[in-house]
Order: sequence, then structure tokens, then C-alpha cells
Amino acid sequence: MAPLIDIRGVSKTYATGSFTVRALRDVSITVEPGEFVALVGPSGSGKSTLLHIMGFLDRPDSGEYYFAGHPTASLGEGRLAAIRSRMIGFIFQSFHLLKRTTARDNVLLPMIYTGLGTNGEKAMDCLSLVGLADRVKHKSNELSGGQCQRVAIARALVNDPLVIMADEPTGNLDAGSRHEVMSAIKSLNERGLTVVVVTHDDEVAAMTGRVVRMRDGRIVSDERNPAAAAAAAPAAAAVDLPPARLGFSPPEFMEQLKAAFKAIWSHKTRSALTVLGIFIGVGAIISLMTISEGFMTSLLSGASEDDAKKVWVTPRWQPGKPRRRFTMGEVEALRAKVPLAEKVQPMLHRDLQITVGDRRVDSTVNTHEGFELMDQVPPGGYFQNRAVAGRFFTKAENGSRARVAVINHALAKKLFDTVEAVNAEIKIKGLAFTVVGVTEDHKAEQMFGGQPTAYIPLNTAAKRVFGETRLGYLEVTAPAPDDTREARRQIIEVLREERGLREDAEDDFEVRTFEAQIEMFKNTMGKISLVVYGIAGISLLVGGIGIMNIMLVSVTERTREIGLRKALGARNSDILSQFLIEAVVLCVLGGVLGVGLGYGLAWAAYFFTKVQPALGAGTIAFAFGFSTLIGVSFGFWPAMRAAMLDPIEALRYE
Ligand code: ADP
Repeated sequence: MAPLIDIRGVSKTYATGSFTVRALRDVSITVEPGEFVALVGPSGSGKSTLLHIMGFLDRPDSGEYYFAGHPTASLGEGRLAAIRSRMIGFIFQSFHLLKRTTARDNVLLPMIYTGLGTNGEKAMDCLSLVGLADRVKHKSNELSGGQCQRVAIARALVNDPLVIMADEPTGNLDAGSRHEVMSAIKSLNERGLTVVVVTHDDEVAAMTGRVVRMRDGRIVSDERNPAAAAAAAPAAAAVDLPPARLGFSPPEFMEQLKAAFKAIWSHKTRSALTVLGIFIGVGAIISLMTISEGFMTSLLSGASEDDAKKVWVTPRWQPGKPRRRFTMGEVEALRAKVPLAEKVQPMLHRDLQITVGDRRVDSTVNTHEGFELMDQVPPGGYFQNRAVAGRFFTKAENGSRARVAVINHALAKKLFDTVEAVNAEIKIKGLAFTVVGVTEDHKAEQMFGGQPTAYIPLNTAAKRVFGETRLGYLEVTAPAPDDTREARRQIIEVLREERGLREDAEDDFEVRTFEAQIEMFKNTMGKISLVVYGIAGISLLVGGIGIMNIMLVSVTERTREIGLRKALGARNSDILSQFLIEAVVLCVLGGVLGVGLGYGLAWAAYFFTKVQPALGAGTIAFAFGFSTLIGVSFGFWPAMRAAMLDPIEALRYE
């Protein structure tokens, strides 16, 4: 039967700055199954270093180590983690229990890293064994030092190790607790467990079966205590070293998720401040996405087939030249020569003050030629897809330059505080007009409160009000939406001919179809979105950096916990994933709250825009995906730093 521990000619040198410390010099020692060994000696003699090498927390510089008969020099990180997890139980001077965690959960911790799932009954058994059956639900801060150390002993036992390694287990305890802890350890040995304990306390050493004395990195004596016969070792069959664990088990994932929430919850304010950037960034994106989606939907649903049949002709702005407006002659030419122009509506428009008594309202005044018959726009009918109360004016009224007007809700409210304004009198440029109809505000304008607008007959405007017969724009109606492209082509041809533009001259007018209008609108929205996405992007970047920063802080704060988890069998990848999960949970929390914020903002905007925000599954998926991505990318470096920590240095970190 091979010795359990067989260390041959092991040396370890630490280089600190200018001088080196030879912590172990050519040390050889074997430990048989069932032995109870004390490593004693003055401080700095190399006891802990030897124990850490025995426990695969550290590697020797030279020499060989056979564990249960197997050479260990070439084992990789994953194998060593598996050995620590399944074969070794560590007990430390300062207990190293997880903070704010119950005795039971502390004992369950090593089971997570076996990948075999946790077993509450087993944890209970181990706690009973150290006499703590009645303290299971107590948290680490509610236990005495001796009780904490007994929880640590139960934790060391829970995976049925081959050997218990204790580093000054009584160093932080008073005399009473010291006895209680040593008795617990001794009883484990009596049950057949191999125990190696580092101590400088002779009383402790006297309880063991073998005392190995060290000085200056060497073993200076090795004495068996005849009084304490070695426990009857179980007739140990040859043991194989466990394989490296691959992948992650669901219980481990759950534990990591739990640990992440716990870490976040225990620093509520800090976590809240950290996710602020993500919260605002995602909120901005979501509000914009929901509003613009809703806006688009309402715009398209608000547009009638009438709108889709229209083509708008406007003067083109050319640098250094006055805009060239249209003449009635050009209107007549279009009416005569464009077969696809069902109607050509000339429009004049001015921004003028409209007055009633001493109220003055800056308003847009548009013109219209009126309708053939009054009943073309009956009461409750529609003008440009908007309901009209009262009536619209007629062609006859236009011909006689009647002073009649149709005003919109926005103007009516400003002039009269009500939309009930039919038959009221208004004054435009000092001329009195009778309001014959009131229209609703334009759908697109409703969002911004509506531009006050009045419509008056074209001829009245040209001859009596504006003193201007040149037309600001023309509205051409094609027989069907599909005809608008062709109508546009014909309009361009006729207008160029009318204006005698040479082949190489640019159009001095613009002709836009409804489709093109929508396109233009989308373009504008796209540009606004770009700005908002830019701001959101910066916010997310800053948020991400905040996450990285806090994760670095978290890793530093929990350095000893990381060391402990590694000592209990966590692989580098377990630590990496734990911190990555924490970063992702933080980001996703920010993202979820951000979706709430964005949706809330969109609904707040509803009161101004009257556009119902549309929150699609795609938007939500986007927010989740995006926050996860930020968590992973900004959490990776801190998580990597955590994963790469040396277990011993991490455990020693102050
Ligand atoms: P003991 O446990 O007997 O008190 P250690 O094994 O902890 O002794 O340390 C042995 C020697 O190695 C000491 O001189 C100590 O200062 C040194 N040493 C231990 N760990 C390190 C380290 N990480 N870096 C530098 N020196 C170290």
C-alpha cells in the first residue's frame, strides 16, 4: 500500500524584491493513511508552505510529490481542483466562512464544486458530527469562534476527503474553544481519517500521533507519540485520482446565480448606482424605439388613400436665388397637359396674425379654391382626412372672393378657448372673415399641439389679403396611389416645358409623392434616432465601464473568498463564470429597469404626442441581449482577474 502523501526532496523559494526566502529546503516526508500528524516549529519555518504543497494549493519548485501512489507534477489546474474538491478538506486559522451565510450553506459550498449536486442531509450529518445540529440556520456572524471553526470542520468533511489539512486551526481561539475544536478533529482521526495539522502549540501537538518539527525550511525531527496509537486505517484499496470536471452542472449554475444576487443585494446602493448608466441607456433606446414605432404606425394608419394619391409641387430652394413660386398659368398648364392630374389645387400660404378683439394669434393662413358643391364637404365631413364641423367654402365663394374661413382646432382654442367657433368672426390683416367650418388638427401636428391654421379662398387671399398671386405650392391628385410616380414624371415634364428650362438646367421646383414624403419622414426619424442612439451608446459605454469598475472592486473585496472557493475545489472557470454571471445579472437588472423606464417615458410622451407606444417582443429581446452583451464584455476582464488569482495569495490577502 503506497503512503497517502509521499513528498520527496521538495524545495520552495520565494523571491520578494531584492532577497529570496528559502521556505522549504529539500524536504521529504510520508504520511500513511489514518495518521494524525502535527507539523510544528517556530513561525516562518515553512510549515504552512509544506501544508499548502501537500494540499495542492501551491506547487514545489523542485522535488516530487506522489499522492495515493500517483505522481502529481504534471497534473493540470482542473485535475488539481478536482483533487482538492474530492480528496482534501481544508481548515484555516481564520475559518474563512462565507459572510452572512448560514452554517448549512457554508457546509454545502464544497459540494457545489464536485459537480454532483448538493446534499442537505449530508451537510446536516457533518454539522451534527461537530455538535452543531442546533446551529444549522445561524449565520457566520451569529456564531462564536469555536462554533465557526467547527462549521469549517464540517465543511472540510462534507465531500468525504481522504485527508484533512488544518493550518493553525486553534490559532484564533480561546482555551475553551481550542479544546472543543481539537477534540472534534481528533475524533475524526479516530474514525479513520488522515489528518495533518500545522501548529506552534505544543498542547495541540501532544494530542496527535506524530510530531514533525521544522526549522528554517527543514524537518529537524519526526517523532511518533507512543501514547496515541495510529488510528486503524481503513483497509484502503488503491484510489484513483478524480478526473478534471468539465462544463457546469445546474446546481452550480443556480448557486452562482444565488451568489450573484446575494452580492448585489448586500450592496444595494452601490449596485443601484452602478446600473444607472445601463438603466438610462437602455431606457433611452427603448423609449425611442417604442415611440417611433408607435409614431410610424399611427402616421400610416392616419393617412388615407386620399393622401396616398397626392403629389406635392413646391419651389426648390437654390442657394443665392429667390424661390420660384408658381403662376396660375402653370396651374392651368398642368390641368390641361397632365393626364394623370385629376385635380390640381393651387396653394398660397402666409404666416399672419389673426385677431379677435384684442387676442392675437400667430397663425398659418392657407388657401383653397373651394369645392364645387357645398355638400362635397358636408357637416361632419372630411377635409384632407380631417373631420369638419360646419362646412368648407365653395368654388363660388372663391370666385366672388368671399371673406369666409375654415380654421383648425388649435387656432379656435387660442382665439375662442373652444372649438365651437362656427359663425364666429375673425380678422386677418384687418379684414373680417366669417368662420364657416372648424377642422380637426392634422394628425402629424397633433403630436406637437397643432399649428394654428386658417383656410381662406384662394382668390380672396390673392387679391385682398396677401396681394400676391404667386403660388407657394400645388397639390396634385392622381387617380390612384399607383399613378403618383407617373404623375410626378408628367408634372416635371410639363413644368420644365412651361418654364423653358434647358436640357442641362436643374429643376427649380420639387415634386414629391406621398411615398417620398414618408421616406423623408423616415429619414428624419432615422437622423433623430441616430442622435439618441449615440447618447444612449455613450451612456451604455459609461455604464459598462461602471460595471467593470465595480466588478474590479468586488473581486478585490472578495479576494479571500475566491481563495477559499479555490481551496474547496473551484476551478478557474468556476470563478470566471461566477463573476461573469454577477456582471451579467447587474446589467440585465439595469436592462429590465431600463425597459420599464423607456416604456414609462414613452407613455409620458403619449400625453403630448397622442401616439400609443408599441412595445414589441423584439424590443425586449434586444434590451436583454444588449445588457447581457455589455455584462459579458465589461465583466470579462475583472472575472478573468479573479479566476487567475493564486489560491494561497488570495487566502492571505488582507
Ligand atoms: P510557517 O507556516 O512555518 O510560519 P511559512 O511556510 O508560512 O512558515 O513561511 C515560510 C517562509 O516563507 C517565511 O519566511 C515566509 O515569510 C516566507 N513566505 C511564505 N509565503 C511567502 C510568499 N508568498 N512570498 C514571500 N515569502 C513567503
